[in-house]
Amino acid sequence: MVDFSLTPEQEQLIEETRALALKHIIPIAGKLDHAGDDHFDFGPVQVLAGNNLLTPNVPREFGGRGLNHLATSLVAEELGAACAGVATVMLANMHAATPIILAGSPKQKQTFLPLLTASRPNLAALALTEPEAGSDVVAMSTVAVEKDGLWEISGEKEFVINGGIASFTTLFAMTDSRKDKAGMVAVIIPQDAPGFKVGAVRNKMGIRYARTTRLLFNQTPVPVDLAIGPKGTAYLFLMQTFDRGRAISGAVGVGIARAAYEFALEFSKQRHQFGRPIFSHQAVSFALAEMATRIESARLMVWKACWLIDHDLDYTMASSMAKIAGSQVAQYATAQAMDICGGRGYLKDFPLEKYLRDARALSLLEGTNHIQKAVIASQL
Ligand SMILES: Cc1cc2nc3c(=O)[nH]c(=O)nc-3n(C[C@H](O)[C@H](O)[C@H](O)COP(=O)(O)OP(=O)(O)OC[C@H]3O[C@@H](n4cnc5c(N)ncnc54)[C@H](O)[C@@H]3O)c2cc1C
Repeated sequence: MVDFSLTPEQEQLIEETRALALKHIIPIAGKLDHAGDDHFDFGPVQVLAGNNLLTPNVPREFGGRGLNHLATSLVAEELGAACAGVATVMLANMHAATPIILAGSPKQKQTFLPLLTASRPNLAALALTEPEAGSDVVAMSTVAVEKDGLWEISGEKEFVINGGIASFTTLFAMTDSRKDKAGMVAVIIPQDAPGFKVGAVRNKMGIRYARTTRLLFNQTPVPVDLAIGPKGTAYLFLMQTFDRGRAISGAVGVGIARAAYEFALEFSKQRHQFGRPIFSHQAVSFALAEMATRIESARLMVWKACWLIDHDLDYTMASSMAKIAGSQVAQYATAQAMDICGGRGYLKDFPLEKYLRDARALSLLEGTNHIQKAVIASQL
């Protein structure tokens, strides 16, 4: 039985997140974007943490909201519509937490998950990508050497959201003995670990609130009890982490698209040319109709992927499709909205250029859209 209605709790969650965004995020989204990667403002994450929405997938037993993926997608859409940079910070926290939720020891869960649910905001980061290993994650050269009851980590990570401001980093590396999927390990690295340095802060085109850095590790000692999961399983739960996260990143795309669409719709009813609102020109109203249709279809794909995840059904393909659909609709709707607003749409005074720059990130992070297509093709 297919049921498209949201529960009262889900409706309430949308209202709650929308109200927070309206009051605390939307008014400063332009400022956060302008400040960029160099200046992280803890205000928005403080607001999310105060409402236990900074890492919404942390189970209730560890102090979290315990939201399932469908509910989390509703939060992600609202935050995406408000400021995709803020939404991405939440996504990064979820990405760092998910391996611990899926495969962490009871002690790891008790130590690290409550940090992410505290009312004082704690951030977390997932460090996987390297300068020479992006889509091909198994090519990574960060090495984990087992020595005297410790893992010693050496290498360099790239594009790490929340880098340098995270209370802990969930890092993936290769053991020195095996350079294949089974040789991958995941460890939790506390902020103050020896030999751990924050490298260059990346100056990004969009989602500029989400501070993104390189991270450097020089023989960083990590106690073996901070290794996540049994040996040989890290690649598996890394893929599960992405399969879950991609649906939520699709929701962020839907949020950006919705914000651009709503802005252009309102503008088209206010702006007059040739003696009537531009909305009454079919070229404009049809463009808005097309945007509304694509937003709705991407949202339904996100909801379906989340529903499959929440019901523990086969969700890999659906999640990759949802991520493609969300990122594509974000790029499509922001470009269309800019055209509808004419020359003004191109000005920095309007939010559209930020939406457009933010939208561009979504086909790159969490695996490019090419990689999503490779995932889908592998299931055909
Ligand atoms: C804003 C942003 C935030 C990010 N956040 C994080 C983070 O928090 N943590 C983290 O670890 N990483 C993060 N990343 C890294 C991101 O996951 C990688 O950029 C992405 O996986 C691609 O890797 P790459 O940039 O090295 O590109 P490459 O892998 O070098 O790819 C270059 C091009 O080749 C294509 N390509 C490569 N292999 C194939 C293939 N087999 N088939 C078809 N096409 C292929 C790609 O699709 C792309 O078009 C972030 C990236 C961005 C832009």
